Amino acid sequence: MQRRRLGKTALEISALGFGTSPFGNVFGHTEPHDNQGAVDTAIDAGINFFDVSPYYGLTLAEERLGRTLEGNRAKVVLATKCGRYGVEEFDFSAKRIKREMEASLRRLRTDYVDLLQAHDIEFASFDQIIHEALPAMRELQAEGKARYIGITGYPVGMLRRVAEHVEVDSILSYCRYNLINTDIDAELVPFAETRQIGLINASPLMMGVLTDCGAPAWHPGSEDLKDAGRRAATAAERHGVNISALALQFAIARPTVASTLVGMATADQVKENLRSIETKINSTVLADVQTAIGNGFATTWTTGLQENADLVEKFY
Ligand code: NAD
Repeated sequence: MQRRRLGKTALEISALGFGTSPFGNVFGHTEPHDNQGAVDTAIDAGINFFDVSPYYGLTLAEERLGRTLEGNRAKVVLATKCGRYGVEEFDFSAKRIKREMEASLRRLRTDYVDLLQAHDIEFASFDQIIHEALPAMRELQAEGKARYIGITGYPVGMLRRVAEHVEVDSILSYCRYNLINTDIDAELVPFAETRQIGLINASPLMMGVLTDCGAPAWHPGSEDLKDAGRRAATAAERHGVNISALALQFAIARPTVASTLVGMATADQVKENLRSIETKINSTVLADVQTAIGNGFATTWTTGLQENADLVEKFY
């Protein structure tokens, strides 16, 4: 498994990262013993980057990941988050961030995380992120509870604005580099390269849109977007290619991203995704799928606080 350095941190993380939101049953029910098999298979194959949040399954994913990593903690780069604790529950105050850090460490059965990320910053005021949340996270870093700190969210413009104001070690953006949308190319990659900020590309399957099963009911994308995913799956299938395999091959080929984080819950899924990234992308299939996806529909959606609306505009 190829390892890439996360910005200017000392973390060398696997090009394929393990997203554990499925451990929180957010994409449907999963079994703890399957989660264990997935983690063991991933570690055996050299995947060392694991991402979680107290939000996923309202602490269930952290609990399960902590249990599955017992005995293997030292082999992995463990990332969790703070600030988001429910669908509508956000609290980026210093007090809550510090309290929740202790709870996350308990659930994860460790005394430090490698990366602590402010989760979905578009749901906080810009000032609070800059003046309260990130300074509190730096204090946790100074106490040895987090080795590095970063930010995550959907509006790439806001991620960039925050990182322009306050130094962060990493930026995680999701659903912004995949077969349907490649916004980070223009909006984050050159900026992050200049500042040597580690970039993490999450949700290369567009949170289920680029899978045979399709998106879950809660997916925020429009019906046009989900239709594009279905057209993509059909076009790939005509060549005998699974759309998720093609989507993963496409995303992981982006070398300026340190890790592509895909959500997985079973050993079979891990094995399938490992096979996919070992296979070279078929350019004929890719071209057909891209034609089938087409354009002329919105590939993004609106999210976050209204007061941040002017911060999320595109830069170019
Ligand atoms: P994803 O695009 O990785 O899709 C995950 C879904 O695809 C799950 O249902 C999974 O079971 C399924 N899947 C995985 N491999 C498959 C395969 N080979 N064939 C068919 N289906 C397959 O979306 P995601 O899980 O939301 O994103 C990946 C990870 O990134 C998350 O688990 C999380 O750790 C992180 N993330 C973070 C944020 C944030 O911080 N704001 C947002 C989104 C994702």
